[in-house]
Amino acid sequence: MFKKILIANRGEIALRVHRAAREMGIKTVAIHSTADTDAMHVRLADESICVGPPSAAQSYLNIPAIISACEITGADAVHPGYGFLSENQNFAQILEDHGITFIGPRSEHIAVMGDKIAAKDTMKKLGVPCVPGSDGGLASFEEARDVAEGMGFPVLIKAASGGGGRGMKVARSAAELENAYRTARSEAKAAFGDDTVYMEKYLSIPRHIEVQVFGDGKGRAVHLGERDCSLQRRHQKVLEESPSPVIDAETRARIGETCAKAIGDLHYIGAGTIEFLYENGEFFFIEMNTRLQVEHPVTEAVYGVDLVAEQIRVAAGEEMSLRQEDLIPRGHAIECRINAERLPDFRPCPGRITTFHAPGGLGVRMDSAIYDGYVIPPFYDSLIAKLIVHAPDREAALHRLDRALSELVVDGVDTTKPLFEALLEQPDVRTGNYNIHWLEKFLGI
Ligand code: ADP
Repeated sequence: MFKKILIANRGEIALRVHRAAREMGIKTVAIHSTADTDAMHVRLADESICVGPPSAAQSYLNIPAIISACEITGADAVHPGYGFLSENQNFAQILEDHGITFIGPRSEHIAVMGDKIAAKDTMKKLGVPCVPGSDGGLASFEEARDVAEGMGFPVLIKAASGGGGRGMKVARSAAELENAYRTARSEAKAAFGDDTVYMEKYLSIPRHIEVQVFGDGKGRAVHLGERDCSLQRRHQKVLEESPSPVIDAETRARIGETCAKAIGDLHYIGAGTIEFLYENGEFFFIEMNTRLQVEHPVTEAVYGVDLVAEQIRVAAGEEMSLRQEDLIPRGHAIECRINAERLPDFRPCPGRITTFHAPGGLGVRMDSAIYDGYVIPPFYDSLIAKLIVHAPDREAALHRLDRALSELVVDGVDTTKPLFEALLEQPDVRTGNYNIHWLEKFLGI
């Protein structure tokens, strides 16, 4: 087993990784920017090293500084968390070249899944259902027109290197196609330095349903059911739940087995998420994330597992402890992303937290790195806490969420807590009747 893990992240996820490592008797090293000297992950880790100034490009993304931090502290492994360098194949490769273990998949799997065309192609060959569309990249507008006419409108033009919903344009008719094609290409070029685009059938009212998978790197893999993350604003997830209100046990077993088999055949190691759009009872693969996700705790609650500990175990060369026959979902879990943002426009709201009180009690988990007097720096993501509730069924989980939200106090900055209180009053949320457009409609955007 590793002796010391360097955590290449900040905030709640740095703490999450520290907790798993500490419980396994592994020492931790926190890295931080000069803006995060007083951060909780820095206080709790066994050692800490400043890797640069506030800007993430010069600190949390600064590969040479992070490698130096590993060498100085003698860390034998790095956990990247999510975001930052977690899906950077170059980083995984450089660590490997330095004899330091990257706690994540092999760099070739990160590379394949980071290219959406290659990812789709790979998944299709592995028997995972994909959204109908062009066969790879579009060479010209004429090709785009031919594919769209063959498939029928509406269609979506997407960037091969896309992320965060950028470089994505809908064309509802032939008249809109040329503009959508050219705009998507120029946006993709500007955002990712790559103007390769491809086409998919545009699904009009899908849900976002993703399957958690885990592989041992040697051909064995399991699935841990699905998460429903359909409540989104600008392609950002806001509330996630497991199981999905619309997936029954048989459907779960079917899509889960398809995903686990694909991951096993790939010899994928560690945690991954296969994301689908789900419409009219059908799954359509959109992308795979080769890392731990923000919303992993809802799966942990329902399946009673520690995904981070398992990531660490398999990265260290131990046998995967997860067995499909033991993975039985129990109850229902919901996560709310509490952001330091001012409603109604969700403007980031950094600053000093004067009072913080976390909810507690049966079935309540709060993953957060904030504390009384903590100053939220303006340089990073606005997520300050994840509130996760678990109860025997969805109805009870909603009551528990309502109760936990009533106990949560964050004073000094605005947060998105009132949004969740409002959502709990919506009949559609209570019954689980929503798709990926529901939240934006509710917010009037
Ligand atoms: P990104 O990596 O940019 O987030 P994704 O492929 O994950 O790109 O898609 C982001 C979001 O865009 C999805 O969650 C969904 O809301 C929407 N989307 C993607 N593909 C389609 C499609 N074929 N039809 C309808 N909506 C789509």
